[in-house]
Amino acid sequence: MDFELSREQRDIRKAAQEFAEGEFRDIARECDLEETFPRSLLEKAGELGFLGVFIDEAYGGAGLGFLEHALILEEFWRVDPGLGQELCSVTFGAEEFLLFGTEEQKRKYLPPLTRGEAIMGFSITEPEAGSDTSSASTLAVRDGDDWLINGSKVMIGNGSVADFLLVFCLTEPEATSRHKRHSILVVETDREGFDADKIEGKMGLRASNTANIFFSNVRIPKENLVGTRGEGFYQLMQFFDRSRAYVAAHGVGLAQGALDLAIQHVKTREQFGQKIASFQVTQFKIAEMATHIELARTLTYRACWTVDQGKPDPKVVAMAKWAAGRTAVEVVDEALQLHGGYGYMNDHDIERFYRAAKVLEIYEGTKEVEKMIIGRRVLGRF
Ligand SMILES: Cc1cc2nc3c(=O)[nH]c(=O)nc-3n(C[C@H](O)[C@H](O)[C@H](O)COP(=O)(O)OP(=O)(O)OC[C@H]3O[C@@H](n4cnc5c(N)ncnc54)[C@H](O)[C@@H]3O)c2cc1C
Repeated sequence: MDFELSREQRDIRKAAQEFAEGEFRDIARECDLEETFPRSLLEKAGELGFLGVFIDEAYGGAGLGFLEHALILEEFWRVDPGLGQELCSVTFGAEEFLLFGTEEQKRKYLPPLTRGEAIMGFSITEPEAGSDTSSASTLAVRDGDDWLINGSKVMIGNGSVADFLLVFCLTEPEATSRHKRHSILVVETDREGFDADKIEGKMGLRASNTANIFFSNVRIPKENLVGTRGEGFYQLMQFFDRSRAYVAAHGVGLAQGALDLAIQHVKTREQFGQKIASFQVTQFKIAEMATHIELARTLTYRACWTVDQGKPDPKVVAMAKWAAGRTAVEVVDEALQLHGGYGYMNDHDIERFYRAAKVLEIYEGTKEVEKMIIGRRVLGRF
């Protein structure tokens, strides 16, 4: 057992830290207020090799692991969750191509993502199908050599800015098992019949794009099937067993960023003639926050390690995602508390962190879904 990051991993983390400090600090608040993301930032991140580092070198990536991907995202989220989210979600779903895509699909879709020249997303959630993904009803039917898609999806990351989207579709409505009814298709967003409506006014992560999307007789060639027809649900679960490991790093990064801000504040703000940091209650709060972050970080790195070993452990990955989300929500709450009324004002960064945190207990599997996965595996058969 070795808890040390390698020299290369420490270098990657440092580079990500410097990039985020240099590029995010000055624009983060404005991007949140205006709900925009500068395309130039994506290009810079691509040039410096921060995008999709887990993608094989043959397809433009760095051929590194999920741990390295998580280290980068942790540092990005530590400086600004909204910009960190967008720089993660531009390759969100690329794992599906790596795991199940054809050679042609990998060569076509992956390299532009790593260069920051293309944006993707993964559309699963529907108005009537949230946690229960197997009830998704966006229908794709074969029509000659094509698929014809009709339906809608909600709250999709990059829905109105993506160049292509993976779409979780109902393709086998007659199948007796509800887990054998779906397939994953890749849809280029310039196809006729595709439409997207950007969601404005999200609680947090406003620099990142989220949209509701619509398919009206969208026609795509049969080659756009990713993986096996009717196996989409299982492919999706295998994706989640990987992606949740690095989504946990979002929570670790956000919590660490909130702690950084709190430390800065209590070391400068004085009340009753002394620094707030000198009160024992403050020291206890800081101690608890730091300890919980370290717990979540250790679990997150271990979750990524299981993925990088080629043996993703769904229980550990779900534990990491749940623990990191909870830690982020609790730590940011205390961090804002330590700011007093100033923390409630949007000229203080902690306000933005506070609004961003809650989503970590909702997307990529709600905290209840994570606990269902953990509970079932801990209990086993009975
Ligand atoms: C900012 C943001 C970005 C997103 N990006 C994407 C994206 O890129 N792609 C995408 O497909 N989706 C995306 N989503 C959607 C997200 O994945 C869903 O919101 C999430 O899966 C929960 O689904 P729901 O909102 O329909 O809630 P529901 O499933 O309706 O859940 C409501 C509540 O009921 C609980 N619940 C549900 N079922 C059970 C059960 N069996 N037992 C106990 N409790 C239960 C839930 O835990 C939750 O507390 C995004 C959402 C947000 C907010």
